[in-house]
Amino acid sequence: MAERPGDDITAPCAPTALDTYATSGLRVMHSATLGRYVITDRDIAPGETIAIWRGTMISTRDAMNLPPEEQHQLLQVGGDQFLYVDSDNLCEVDFINHSCDPNCGFTDAHTLVALRHIAPGESITFDYAMSDVNEFIEFSCRCGASMCRGRLTGDDWRLHELQVRYEGWFAPHVEELIQAQRRQ
Ligand SMILES: [Zn+2]
Repeated sequence: MAERPGDDITAPCAPTALDTYATSGLRVMHSATLGRYVITDRDIAPGETIAIWRGTMISTRDAMNLPPEEQHQLLQVGGDQFLYVDSDNLCEVDFINHSCDPNCGFTDAHTLVALRHIAPGESITFDYAMSDVNEFIEFSCRCGASMCRGRLTGDDWRLHELQVRYEGWFAPHVEELIQAQRRQ
């Protein structure tokens, strides 16, 4: 399938695809600058569940042995746990992009919910600092937000402003790191 800017390259979650849940009305798009990203075709209410990711659990050591393109598809779900989905089973929600001004957050390590109303045509995003605290998360960010950090690293959870802004929306393993840091 040709991937031109604006092309709809939706890959719906197959019911058998490791049981990852994706809410209805999502579409995978492609742009030269952002790569693949996900938009909604309908209104999404605050608190609505967007995704519940399932996959094979692998360790940090296993994750480090993967090629970079597969590392980029991983979701960190624990201090030493990553969800791996092979390329044949990827679906819409596996292409949700990072934003430094996101509209979604985590209620547990696998579950992404809307932080606010999301209008048709808007991108679905979360801040990767909410879940990813590993060394292969590092990349230059072009999310376009006025508060864009420019560069993303696995240490971004340490930023006080993010801890305040995303309070209650970090994945549990990141919340534990924050609590441990506060006790020091
Ligand atoms: Zn950014």
